[in-house]
Amino acid sequence: MKRVLTVTFAAALAAVLCALTTARLPHGTTRAQSEQGQRHQHFEPGEPDVIEHRGNPHRQGTGFLTAGGTGSLSPISYHNGQLIQTPTAYVIWYGNWNRGNGTDTPAGQQIVRDFLSSVGGSNYYKVNTTYSAGGYNISGNVTRGTQEASPGYSYGTRLTDANIQSIVKDAIASGALPADSNGVYFVLTSSDVNERSGFCTRYCGWHTSTSYTQTSNGRLRYSFVGNAARCITSCAAQSVGPNGNAGVDGMISVVAHELEETNTDPDPSSGWVDSSGAENADKCAWTFGSQQHTASNGAVYNMTLGARNYLIQRNLSATDNKCYIDWVNRIQ
Ligand SMILES: [Zn+2]
Repeated sequence: MKRVLTVTFAAALAAVLCALTTARLPHGTTRAQSEQGQRHQHFEPGEPDVIEHRGNPHRQGTGFLTAGGTGSLSPISYHNGQLIQTPTAYVIWYGNWNRGNGTDTPAGQQIVRDFLSSVGGSNYYKVNTTYSAGGYNISGNVTRGTQEASPGYSYGTRLTDANIQSIVKDAIASGALPADSNGVYFVLTSSDVNERSGFCTRYCGWHTSTSYTQTSNGRLRYSFVGNAARCITSCAAQSVGPNGNAGVDGMISVVAHELEETNTDPDPSSGWVDSSGAENADKCAWTFGSQQHTASNGAVYNMTLGARNYLIQRNLSATDNKCYIDWVNRIQ
C-alpha cells in the first residue's frame, strides 16, 4: 500500500531539476546543489513527509573539512505541532553487526551507544533548547534507550521505506522495545543492506513518523540511517574516522542530524521548518565549524563527548538562525 519512488537516473535528475525550480531545495550529492533538506513523498498523502539527509556535497578532505558560514540563514519557524521535550533514542541493529569487515562490528555498535549516551546535555545538543515552543520545553537532554532489537535480515537486504516502518513496529510488537511517545527509533543497517528509495544516491538517512495507537500521543517517530561504509564518499565527510571505524563514525553525524530534527520536528513538517521545508540540521548539513582537530590516525574531529572524539555537523540555533558546534560558548 505504500508508494515508493523507484530510484533511477531519470528520477534523480528530475529531483535535481525540481529542486532547482521550486522552493524545496535539497542539499545534494554534488557540490552544485544547495545544502537544504528535501521533503520527499515516500508515503501516501496524509502521512508526514520523509525528510531526507542528503549526501555530502563536498569532496572529502584530508585535513580541514568544510567549516561553513557564520552568518544568519533564512529563518526557521514553528508550525504549532508536537515537539519532544527529551527524546529517548532506541536502536534497531538491522542486518549483521557481527561481520569481519571492520565496520559492521560490536565495536562499531559501541561507538553508537556511547554517542547516544553522551550527546544529551552537551554544549552541542543544547542548541536544541532554542526550539522550545507551544508549551514544549526542549531540554537539550537525550536518553539512550537501553533496550535494543536485532532482527537480522527480517526483510532481506534490499529494503523499502515501508519495510523500515515494519521493522520498527515488529521490534515493539515482539517486546524488544517499548512503545514510547518520546521515542526516536533508529533503524541502523549494516553495510551489506540497501534502502531502495535512495540510500547512498539520494540520501544518507531520513526521519518521519506515523500514527500509532500504542503510544500515549498517538505517534511513532523513526529514522533510517545506513552504515556509511556502503558509500563512504557520499555519506561520510572523511574516509578515516576518529574512532577508527569510518563507516560508523560517518553514521554518527547523520544520527545526530536525524535526532535533533526529530526532536524539533517530530511529525514533519508540523514542528520547526523554514519556508523551504528545511529542518534545523538540514540548514547546517556537512559543515563542521571552526574548531577542528586531527587525531593520531589522521581523522578530523570537532567535539569530545564522554571518552570519544567525533566529527559531527553543526546545528542551527532558532535564536539567531546561525549554525553552531557549541551553543554554550557560542562557537560556530
Ligand atoms: Zn535532515
